[in-house]
Amino acid sequence: MTIGTWNIVVHGGAGAISRDRLRPAQDQAYRVALTQATQAGADVLRGGGDGLAAIEAAILVLEDDPLFNAGRGAAFSAEGRNELDASIMDGATLRAGAVTGITHTRHPISLARAVMEHSPHVMLVGAPAEAFGASHGLEQVAPSYFFVERRWRSLERFLSAEHLPMPQRPPGVSQAPDVRAELTHDEGKHGTVGVVVRDTFGNLAAGTSTGGITGKRWGRVGDSPIIGAGTYASNASCAVSATGAGEFFIRLAVAHAVCARIELGGLSLQAAVDDVVQNRLAALGGEGGVIAVAGDGEMAWSFNTPGMYRASLGHDRPLTLAIYKDEA
Ligand code: ASP
Repeated sequence: MTIGTWNIVVHGGAGAISRDRLRPAQDQAYRVALTQATQAGADVLRGGGDGLAAIEAAILVLEDDPLFNAGRGAAFSAEGRNELDASIMDGATLRAGAVTGITHTRHPISLARAVMEHSPHVMLVGAPAEAFGASHGLEQVAPSYFFVERRWRSLERFLSAEHLPMPQRPPGVSQAPDVRAELTHDEGKHGTVGVVVRDTFGNLAAGTSTGGITGKRWGRVGDSPIIGAGTYASNASCAVSATGAGEFFIRLAVAHAVCARIELGGLSLQAAVDDVVQNRLAALGGEGGVIAVAGDGEMAWSFNTPGMYRASLGHDRPLTLAIYKDEA
């Protein structure tokens, strides 16, 4: 570790994201948003802040942005609710925090961090988790805050294809057109946001936040809030955040599997993410991707979908922005 060195990698979800599906205005909007989130995290790192603060700063931007399936703009469950999941992990101490089934907390990533820092637990669920967050001063909002019309239309399409009934629109939803939210792209059920960093102390950290998948039922929980599946960080290997069909990521413990390949197998970071995503995940029939950073500052991503919103930046590396498979 060299003092003053840092790295950050950001994703905004993987899925059916291709040039013929995104209008130029959408392409541009996603690139601007990825840049803002990456810079927010980089500002913290540059200023000597720790990795957890950088992750929170970057994910707050993405949770507030209706373009992404996290916080405002989250996917709807079959019952017409936004049920949010998030997790965060500190690679220096292996401390972790996670929340699932959140419907009122504006920033689930902050709640996950509060669980890690202010409770003896790793994972909290639903209303009691929100009460815990409120007691620590985290902003609570009406569920209608998360509503974005284009995600609602995705739910309509999904439920109609599945011959399932369409729920009532949630109460209190604004009818006013939202120009930015209209740029939201339907990645095909998916989307999620995640950030991995190496801070100037040489510590690694990872965080992930999501609305899950459109039309989820029965209290379904994906990989994003599960430590080892959607998120993992250890200074002994790397930090990883995942996005994709969560059930497959849980079954393969994807984030931990990447780290294990480095710690136990001696693979390089790129070889580790490619092996897990392109070989293991693909063999099981799972779709999605991961971003990762290692202790030596190597940054990597791998995905088996047509696209993944992604960005990377380091103290000595310019911003790399990419959406489609044939980019960087
Ligand atoms: N992995 C998330 C989940 O399964 C969704 C996604 O990343 O697209 O909940």
